Amino acid sequence: MKEENCIFCKIANGEIPSKTLHEDETFRVILDVGPATRGHALILPKNHFANLCELPEETAADAMKLARRMAALMTEKLSCDGLNLVQNNGETAGQTVFHFHMHLIPRYGDDGQKIGWTPGQPTQEELEEIRKTITA
Ligand code: 5GP
Ligand code: ZN
Repeated sequence: MKEENCIFCKIANGEIPSKTLHEDETFRVILDVGPATRGHALILPKNHFANLCELPEETAADAMKLARRMAALMTEKLSCDGLNLVQNNGETAGQTVFHFHMHLIPRYGDDGQKIGWTPGQPTQEELEEIRKTITA
């Protein structure tokens, strides 16, 4: 399940070299070439799935287990102060490579990066309307 013109398929399967931190049967973990901070890494499945909704449940579960292990390892080795786990789905959400991946972004007190949003102020009625929309 690879896609012909997908750069992450090629990287995950070793056709294009990368700075690899971990490799197993299902995943490769690489350093991002445009890092937000020192040690910014990407978890790539070797098979092609465009986004989270396309990911099989078992692969999703394994990806999160690997994220947990990598986060612990990176926190120890890089002595970072925190770590963001980021995963973008769709262009509007900031996805630029349409092969599922998770970002592991080590955070340092003085790194100057911002990962966040401006909080809204919905009423209880608005929240209830959204809850109904999603769960109906
Ligand atoms: P997205 O915006 O899709 O969530 O994240 C794509 C990420 O992939 C970006 O952080 C970008 O720097 C990284 N990236 C894009 N092309 C390459 C590449 O060829 N090699 C590596 N290691 N990272 C890449
Ligand atoms: Zn791919």
